[in-house]
Amino acid sequence: MAAPAKQTLAVWKFASCDGCQLSLLDCEDELLMLGERLHIAQFLEASSATVEGPYDVSIVEGSITTAHDAERIQEVRRCSRALITIGACATAGGIQALRNFADVADFTSIVYASPDYISALGSSTPISAHVPVDFELNGCPINKGQLLEVIGAHLAGRRPHVRPHSVCVECKRRGTVCVMVAHGTPCLGPVTHAGCGAICPAYDRGCYGCFGPMETPNTPALSSQLAALGSSEVDLVRIYRTFNANAEAFRTASEAHEQR
Ligand code: SF4
Ligand code: SF4
Repeated sequence: MAAPAKQTLAVWKFASCDGCQLSLLDCEDELLMLGERLHIAQFLEASSATVEGPYDVSIVEGSITTAHDAERIQEVRRCSRALITIGACATAGGIQALRNFADVADFTSIVYASPDYISALGSSTPISAHVPVDFELNGCPINKGQLLEVIGAHLAGRRPHVRPHSVCVECKRRGTVCVMVAHGTPCLGPVTHAGCGAICPAYDRGCYGCFGPMETPNTPALSSQLAALGSSEVDLVRIYRTFNANAEAFRTASEAHEQR
């Protein structure tokens, strides 16, 4: 029986640090196996050789921060049958979305000698704010096992099994003592999407939410607990404003404490 035709894959970068694309390269042996089912047609992080679209599936890293990128993502969507976004930047706007809570001109005037040369939008927004997205994979950076699951599910034509529960579940599964209960350490694990294997609590530190909000995060309950442990209103604003500051649940939680 003839082998099934390979699907074409394109990988695109917008405003980001490239860490999630590196997670794909980090797949190593599995990447070779994927090569039997996928033709990597566009992946500038790995090769300057490109093949023109349309592509069966596009993986997009990074957020939209310039007018040029706002146009480019439309073109990527047009040439992609399926579009998957990876990482905190592409799914929530990334750390660069801190500009959404300030005036970007205040930053450029301090950082750059000639801010007039900077052409950037006043906000950093996820890809889904601009084009339809078929699947979003959280993480900063993403977990390569979850990425392989998402790509494998696409090839098999099924829904990816990426569980939406919290980091606390992973923490319990590995038998880690809860740093919040045992030591009063602030931890975003109860509202953060699983995927990392609860690395930080395993090293005696709280989770700071790099995988973004879980499916049904109860941020008011967590904020009350953090306040009881001594976090001030300013602390609570800051704790939700890191890599996923613009994710709706974290943004809403931080704004609730900013207004008090
Ligand atoms: S340490 Fe954090 S992630 Fe682990 S159980 Fe406690 S609150 Fe949840
Ligand atoms: S910050 Fe939280 S989600 Fe990120 S690696 Fe640490 S425990 Fe995992």
